[in-house]
Amino acid sequence: MDQAATRLSLPDAPREFGFFMNGEWVPAGDRDVFERASPGHGVPVTRIPTCTKEDLDAAVAAARRAFDDRRWSGLSGADRAAVLLKAAEGIRARADEIAYWETLENGKPIAQARAEVGGCVGMFEYASGLARSLHGDSFNNLGDGMFGVVTREPIGVVGIITPWNFPFLILCERVPYILAAGCTIVAKPSEFTSATSLILAEILHDAGLPAGVMNVIPGTGPVVGQAMAEHTGIDMLSFTGSTRTGRGLLTAAGSNFKKLGLELGGKNPQIVFADADLEDAADGVAFGIGFNTGQCCVSGSRLIVERAVADEFAAMVAEKFKKVRVGDPLDETTQVGAITTDAQNAAIMGYIRQGKAEGARLIHGGEQLDFGRGQYIAPTLFGDVTGDMSIAREEIFGPVLTVMPFDTVDEAIGIANDTDYGLAASVWTKNIDKALTVTRRVQAGRFWVNTTLSGGPELPIGGFKQSGWGREAGIYGVEEYTQVKSVHIEIGKRTPWVE
Ligand code: ADP
Repeated sequence: MDQAATRLSLPDAPREFGFFMNGEWVPAGDRDVFERASPGHGVPVTRIPTCTKEDLDAAVAAARRAFDDRRWSGLSGADRAAVLLKAAEGIRARADEIAYWETLENGKPIAQARAEVGGCVGMFEYASGLARSLHGDSFNNLGDGMFGVVTREPIGVVGIITPWNFPFLILCERVPYILAAGCTIVAKPSEFTSATSLILAEILHDAGLPAGVMNVIPGTGPVVGQAMAEHTGIDMLSFTGSTRTGRGLLTAAGSNFKKLGLELGGKNPQIVFADADLEDAADGVAFGIGFNTGQCCVSGSRLIVERAVADEFAAMVAEKFKKVRVGDPLDETTQVGAITTDAQNAAIMGYIRQGKAEGARLIHGGEQLDFGRGQYIAPTLFGDVTGDMSIAREEIFGPVLTVMPFDTVDEAIGIANDTDYGLAASVWTKNIDKALTVTRRVQAGRFWVNTTLSGGPELPIGGFKQSGWGREAGIYGVEEYTQVKSVHIEIGKRTPWVE
């Protein structure tokens, strides 16, 4: 493909993919093929096989063989690191191609997609170091007759189920860490956005990853996803998606008591104090809900603002919303792209209708934007919101922000914690005492002070409460995919039990 030539225009025909298993591409054959239309343009962009349960069984068998014969876990950390570094190079070399297909399938702005791919290179580079530094523990204090060693072993075959909002990024927040631990992988992307996961499998293969270590099986959630959760050949499942689907996996994973990593929904507070740099805060709050059209589990969707500045601040955010560039995802200057799926578009518009019906005051947006093709929703701001309204309680997963005022630090913390979720939170203040008190007492797995949605390969990702289990990324994200073995080593002659 001439990437430079096609980057900013639509493909002439949808790109055909196979799926990737046991070190090779498998053509669609007589399987159903899912044709994906670009949500920003409504034209078909990819054609991807819909795998079956039998395909999954074959992929799990390949991953199991690759794990059991130690072709990957038996390598030194240094050798695994070399493959991860080569993969990082491979991603860098194909970054424009990855960003292009990500934008076409997902609807996110091309500039954003490129930045995400750049972040993914960093994930692989960082995880390569972890492959070498991962270690256990030792106990040299058990007396002269005993030495204790704690080792970390890869957990085995890992299933990964990813959603459509960050298809490549979310995969790359997991894959290099799982590979650093020595595990093998069967990944199922969302059926709407499988292309870049398949490209990653090819990049890993080209980087020297042994056959069977990384398998990508596109398919639907109820068929392949559900079968993965139930599969007794999978030792751990990392799921990213809705809390509703995640809850269903708890039972399915009971088949073999597989370990579950869950990154689920969020209804994340943005707490703004009157003493904040309000200009910075307004920009950050607009970014926190506008980025990826609010289709992030960590989107800052609840603005909780000190009453003294509440109206002024809401007006500042509305002003930012007015100026933000919504439009064609292939346009280099676009900041907010299309809504990824038809169902999500309908769900967001449904929430906007419900917000109005429940008595919230529409300050900005609230409507579908018509660019002649594709599906777009204006960044939307609701005032006069109360804690019992569905727009204040439920994860909308769209560019919809609610405003609620507070008077005291305790009240701000109370509103922030009044949710079943606990994924992320941000606080904006120049007062260190307020910043630290709020950071300590608001229940969230990720916290931002005077910023939002920043991150990198070092800091772990995951949620409190009904936002999930476990952590991804950082050293934590490698350790999650290991299990711990205690080794007791007797020194010298045994004290006899039977004389
Ligand atoms: P959304 O409704 O926003 O797409 P989901 O949680 O349904 O969020 O989707 C996230 C991922 O979970 C996707 O890859 C999807 O195919 C998958 N999925 C959906 N239903 C199931 C299921 N019953 N079991 C396993 N995975 C599922």
